[in-house]
Amino acid sequence: MSVTGAGHSADLIVINGRVLTMDGGNPVAEAVAVKDGAIIAVGSRAAIEELKGAATQVIDAKGGSVLPGFIEAHMHLFSGGAELAHLQLGGVHGFEALQKAIRDYASTKPEAKMLVGQGVDYTVLGDERVTRHHLDQILPDRPFCMAAPDHHTMWANTKALDMAGILHGRALGPGNEIVMGEDGLAAGELREGEAFGPVLDLAGEGRVRLGLATGGEPDPMPSAAERAADRDIMRRGLAWCARHGITSIQNMDGNLYQLELLAEIDAEEGLPCRVQIPFHYKNFMTLDMLDKASVMAERYNSEWLSSGMVKVFYDGVLDSWTAVMVEPYADRPDWVGEPLFTPQQFIDLAVAVDRRGLQIAVHSIGDGAVRAVLDGYEAAQKANGKRDSRHRIEHIEVTTTSDVPRFAELGVIASMQPPHPPGAMDFPLEPTVSRIGPARWPLSYAWRTLKNAGAHVVFASDWPVSPIDPILGIQAAVMRKPWADSDPDQSFSLQESLAAYTVEGAYAEFAEHRKGTLKSGYMADLVVLSADIEKTAPADLHKVRPVTTICGGKITYKA
Ligand SMILES: [Zn+2]
Repeated sequence: MSVTGAGHSADLIVINGRVLTMDGGNPVAEAVAVKDGAIIAVGSRAAIEELKGAATQVIDAKGGSVLPGFIEAHMHLFSGGAELAHLQLGGVHGFEALQKAIRDYASTKPEAKMLVGQGVDYTVLGDERVTRHHLDQILPDRPFCMAAPDHHTMWANTKALDMAGILHGRALGPGNEIVMGEDGLAAGELREGEAFGPVLDLAGEGRVRLGLATGGEPDPMPSAAERAADRDIMRRGLAWCARHGITSIQNMDGNLYQLELLAEIDAEEGLPCRVQIPFHYKNFMTLDMLDKASVMAERYNSEWLSSGMVKVFYDGVLDSWTAVMVEPYADRPDWVGEPLFTPQQFIDLAVAVDRRGLQIAVHSIGDGAVRAVLDGYEAAQKANGKRDSRHRIEHIEVTTTSDVPRFAELGVIASMQPPHPPGAMDFPLEPTVSRIGPARWPLSYAWRTLKNAGAHVVFASDWPVSPIDPILGIQAAVMRKPWADSDPDQSFSLQESLAAYTVEGAYAEFAEHRKGTLKSGYMADLVVLSADIEKTAPADLHKVRPVTTICGGKITYKA
C-alpha cells in the first residue's frame, strides 16, 4: 500500500511503540495512525509509516507502551482543580511536622480569608484525635481548616469555627455531625459536608463545592470575573488530568454551572479531556426536580461534554462511622451507621431516574448501603422492565456474600478505587481495618471477587480524594495484599487493571464502540508512556510516566 496525497496521509502517527490496543482481536501493535480526530490504522511500523505525508506529525514512542487514553471513572474535577492550590498535608505526621507545614503555608498566603489544608491523615497525631486546641496552638489568630484524604471529615481551629458560626454547634441532617467537646463547644472535628460547609465557604470557593454540597446553582449568579476565575480552576484540573494520561472523565458531582463553564472552555479553545457531568440528587430534593437531570442530558450530549447521569450519596465513610453496615461496626457494637435516604426513598428515586432512561451512580461504602442500592436497582428493573441501564455503585468498600452475584444479575457496574484500601497506598491500616473487623475483611474492597462473579469493574482515583495518577492505581491494584493470610487475594493482573482504566471505563459510559480501545474508527484518544509497562516490575510501575497524551487527535500533554 502506498499513500502519498495529503488528503490520504495521517495527521499524526505514533511509531516505535509497544501498542497495547485492549482489542482482543489485535492485542499488540507497533504503531498507530490518526486523522481528523479518529484512529485510521493500528499495525506495524512499516504499514503505519506508509500513511506519513509531508504534514504528518510523528511521535516516536521509543519502545514505551502506547495505551488507549485513561478513562477516569470517578473523580471531582472542579474541587480537584481548586485544591491544587491548597496546602498539601499528605505524608505529614506528628505535631511538629504539622505545625511547620501550616505555619509555612500561612506565611505565603497573607491575604487568604481562610487557610485550607488537604489530605491530612486521621492519625496525624497518632492515637490522639485532632481538636481545635491543637490547631489553635499552631495558628491562633487566623482561620484554618484541614480535610482528611477522604474529604468526609475536616478539622478547624477556634477562629474558623467562630467565624463560621458553628462554635456552639448546630442541628444538622442525618449523617452529619459537629463533634462537641466536654466544654459544650465544638471540638474541632466536623463530619460530612453539612458540618464543614460553613467553614469551607469562608474560603471563597463556595461555587467549587456546590456540585458536591447541594447539586444546586450559584446564587447570585457569578460575575464575569468570577466565571473567568472558575474557568481557570477547571482548566487547571483538566490540565492535571491530561498530564496523567487521562482523556475521559466521569465526574461524580455536578450542576448546570459546571457544564456551562466546560462548554465555555470548549468554545474558546476546545477541551483537553472529554467530560461527563452528572446531576447530583440530594435527600432534600423531590422527584420532580429530576426534570433538570433530563434537561442536562438533552442539552449536553456531545463526544466532548455530556451528562445523562444522576449521582447520589447513600452513606458516608467508614472512618467517621457514617458508612451504613449490615452488622454493627467492629469497634462500635451498637452502631450500624445512618443512611442518607430511607430504603423506600431510594427505591422510589431509582425507579424514577431509571424511567427517564438516565444512568444512576450511587456512593455506597458499607455493605448495608450496597444492599439497599442493589434493592433499588432491582425495584427499578421490576417497575420499568429490564434494559441496558448500566447503573453503577461507587466504592463498595464492604459487601456481603449474598450481594456479590447481584451485580452481574442486575447488570450493575462496580466502580472501585485501587488507591483506597487501607494499606494499599496512602491510607493507613488503622483505624479502618479494626472498624471493619476481620469477619468482613474477605469481602472488603473485593474487586477480584466481584469480577469473578461477572461484574463489570471500573477503576478510578476519586481525585482529589486520592492522587489522580492512574498508574499509581494500577500499581496498587497489581500489588494488593490481603490483610490476613486467610483472606482471598483481591489483586488484579496488569492487563485487568489496564482494562479497568480503559475498555471498562468506556463501557460504563456506553461508549465501548467508540473509545477505550485502539482500533480503526475509534476516537484518537491515547497515551504514550515512558517505558514498557509490561516489562516493568510491579514495585516500579509508579516510575512509568505519561510522556504524550493525545485526545481527539490533538496533543494535550507533552512531557
Ligand atoms: Zn467521589
